[in-house]
Amino acid sequence: MRYAETGYNLEIDLSRGSIERVETDPKLTELHLGGLGTNTKILWDRVPPETEPFSPDNLLVFSTGLLCGTPAPGANRTIVTTYSPQTLLMGYSMMGGFWAPELKYAGYDKVIFRGKSPNLIYVWINNDKVEIRDASHLRGKGAGETADLIRQELKEPKAQVAAIGLAGENRVYMASVEQGRSSASRLGIGAVMGDKGIKAIAVRGTKDINLARPAEFIKLCNEVLQYIKAREQKPVPGVMPILAGLGSPAEMKLVDEEWHTQNFMWGNARERKRDYWNKQIEEKWKETQETVRTRLISCYNCPMKCGALISVPGISTYMMKCFSKLTYTMAAFSDLDFGFRIAQRATEYGVDGFSTPQVMAFAVELKEAGILTDADFAGCPSDSEGRFYWLLDRIVRREGIGDMLANGTYWAAQQIGKGAEAYAHNNIKKHEQLPLKLGMLNPVYFLMYSTGEKINITQIEGQFPQAPFPTMEEREDFVKDWIQVPDEKFKQYLLDWEMRGERSNPYYPTVDMSVDIVDWQEMMHYIDDALGVCAGLSAFPLKPPYHIHNYPAFISSATGIDMDEAGLKQVYKRNRTLLRAVNVRRGLRRADEKPPEDHWKKRFPELEAKLLDAYYKFKGWDHQGIPTKETLQELDLAYIAEDLEQRGIIKNE
Ligand code: SF4
Repeated sequence: MRYAETGYNLEIDLSRGSIERVETDPKLTELHLGGLGTNTKILWDRVPPETEPFSPDNLLVFSTGLLCGTPAPGANRTIVTTYSPQTLLMGYSMMGGFWAPELKYAGYDKVIFRGKSPNLIYVWINNDKVEIRDASHLRGKGAGETADLIRQELKEPKAQVAAIGLAGENRVYMASVEQGRSSASRLGIGAVMGDKGIKAIAVRGTKDINLARPAEFIKLCNEVLQYIKAREQKPVPGVMPILAGLGSPAEMKLVDEEWHTQNFMWGNARERKRDYWNKQIEEKWKETQETVRTRLISCYNCPMKCGALISVPGISTYMMKCFSKLTYTMAAFSDLDFGFRIAQRATEYGVDGFSTPQVMAFAVELKEAGILTDADFAGCPSDSEGRFYWLLDRIVRREGIGDMLANGTYWAAQQIGKGAEAYAHNNIKKHEQLPLKLGMLNPVYFLMYSTGEKINITQIEGQFPQAPFPTMEEREDFVKDWIQVPDEKFKQYLLDWEMRGERSNPYYPTVDMSVDIVDWQEMMHYIDDALGVCAGLSAFPLKPPYHIHNYPAFISSATGIDMDEAGLKQVYKRNRTLLRAVNVRRGLRRADEKPPEDHWKKRFPELEAKLLDAYYKFKGWDHQGIPTKETLQELDLAYIAEDLEQRGIIKNE
């Protein structure tokens, strides 16, 4: 019997119209857990590195995490993996909500798509019955609208539906996959789904998931729930409110936006409005938010309620979570009311709420600079909000300049030329980043940002505070009950971290300490993404309920695999290195691992080089960030070493 996982994947060949239920190899679960880990392995094994993202040979994998569908709180992530049209590297975007647990209950760990459908289709997975159905009547429909229509058509109100909107159908690079209470937005996953001709995947499952040692597992789950309760009553003092608690940032509860509006950049990540926030705006925005926010909502089996149902009069209700509340508002130099209104249209179109506003502001800047012309903007309203709606419509339809903008700022700038590249200034690995520009370089953030391959906002976050606490008393107070640290040394790192002087940024945490901290932070992200646990309860916040000390017991009691901390760390290293190898084989090198030039006012080239050197060395990678043969062999990845050697990527010296 298989525990925690179902032991079966669905393999759907869209070119042939075939559907197979395929048993998986339990050995791979031991080596990689599930979710991102096994997705990466599938991409390595089955998609040659020369494959174009829009080739029929590219795979699109919708995966549950290993713990999804078990009673583990917050274990609800769907991990969607493919080669990204945006970065050309491996893209893995995640969504919460209810889809992954439903897939497990239907009896599958993953749905793997290959080929392309000649017509627009949707897939209906109803336990053992799986069908490819015509979706031509859904062409052009919004993502939420599509989900509603499919549920009606199937007469199955409990079906969980992941769908694309118009943006995905038109292969817009920032197209998302939307799913009622969450979305997989980054890296162009929705564009690949549209390219394959999949409008939606509807799932209904009513089977059970087996647990190896249920009593032990339930006890651990209860401990996590109790800890969440206790932590809620004890927000971390001295940090900004959205980091004080657990979950994804509590943006839908929060009305004080002083920090975001004054510290994040506006427009195309260009301008900071230092004195923006005042009492009047606070009251106005509070009223707006409380009028449209009808209900706070959670993902499957989680008490955190990070999302909200938003009902703006005159337009359909949608779900909003996290920082997308502000991205449209700030990109258009507008008001929160506008942000809530345009986000509804953008959600139905199915676009990434981080990249899209930046792309639109980029177009406005190019127009102001005379690089884009009146002819490019023919028919566009002159007011800022009108311009944004107009641009959004052009982008998702790929009409006029929208066709180039639909490829994101990096590719659009190359196509537009005439100096447009200078305006695409906020990219890492060809993808728009958080519109945050800072004064002083923080070495941990530098490494997380530069070397991360997830390319989303949480890639810089982790269980170590982002800034030092001003007083020793605060630091001592923080470390007192810091049970999550993998090693006691981290407490000393924090105790010694000063706001100014020798032991402050950029030279403290020191290079070696920074690498240690980054490794811890990355480790938690990689474990979460393999288990399907929301980072909001683990890798992302300070002092979360899941950590390196209790995860092994969760895995052992759920799966029956004998797992301890050392073993779990080894799985993390294997998964991290495997993902790096996939991207190295696609051409990723050191030169790609750099933050935007103007991300920090002051840069420290020598220190930055040392940080990268030390990070690579720590990982067992060479100067270019390529895993060495020895490292690969140690991690049971000798077959990768062989492949990289044959390709001349690892030199046989
Ligand atoms: S912490 Fe928030 S985002 Fe994460 S599972 Fe819970 S409700 Fe969803």
